[in-house]
Amino acid sequence: MGWPGSETGQPFDIITIMSKIAEHYLLVQERIAAAAQRAGRASEDITMIAVTKTWPVDVVLSAYEAGMRHFGENRAEELEAKRSAINAALGPDNDITWHHIGTLQSRKTNLAAENADIFHAMDRLKIAKRLSRRLEIIDRELPYFLEVNISEEASKSGFACGNWENSATEKEHLRNSVETINQLPGLHLQGLMTMAPWGVEEEIIRSVFRRTRQLAAWLQASFPQVSISKLSMGMSDDFEIGIEEGATHIRVGRALFGSRH
Ligand SMILES: *Cc1c(COP(=O)(O)O)cnc(C)c1O
Repeated sequence: MGWPGSETGQPFDIITIMSKIAEHYLLVQERIAAAAQRAGRASEDITMIAVTKTWPVDVVLSAYEAGMRHFGENRAEELEAKRSAINAALGPDNDITWHHIGTLQSRKTNLAAENADIFHAMDRLKIAKRLSRRLEIIDRELPYFLEVNISEEASKSGFACGNWENSATEKEHLRNSVETINQLPGLHLQGLMTMAPWGVEEEIIRSVFRRTRQLAAWLQASFPQVSISKLSMGMSDDFEIGIEEGATHIRVGRALFGSRH
């Protein structure tokens, strides 16, 4: 794994980044606490996932030393490599939870089934079936978030829910998908994940997050036997809005580690 920046030839000072991680973590924790307070929520109810994609294992270890315990990766090979390096450094029974947060290619489902502790990007049935098949063989359980595309951006993955309030078709498709996945061994729905659009006004981001929360409540009413109570929404630039709108999981990279080059 190359250092980030090595491809671009930009100067890159890993020591500086590592020395600032604890400081950045404090700032992020303060931002989480302030947003939670505005929303009348407890910050303990919000899990911050440190998104370490592209960063070397030493950065993960610095983050661990600073107190972080939830890590997020968006590529199955990178998650596997980091998980095994961290297991070698901290022992296999360490207290880290690994989150697979990004779109998964179908040929990588075995790797994700073997290495992810929580999966945030269940965006199509094909992935669910392949994950489940592997989970059954290796006798592993995988809690997951259903990814919903609320903002209707073509570039975003997830089940199409851009007009769910008014679309019987979208609701029916989502309900049927959940029903199908619920019957697959090893997979456990815990909530919804969404991505806000880039570079838009705060009110638009807020409405994407709010409508995701409302969609989760609607889905919960259809599936009383499972708990669809978690919401994975918010990244470095918008996690406060996510928290104000009910996020239980936020996925934070740049605010902790700086830009990825
Ligand atoms: C990279 C990534 C993040 C973190 O983004 P930052 O802007 O660095 O906080 C969150 N979620 C997903 C799905 C990502 O791929």
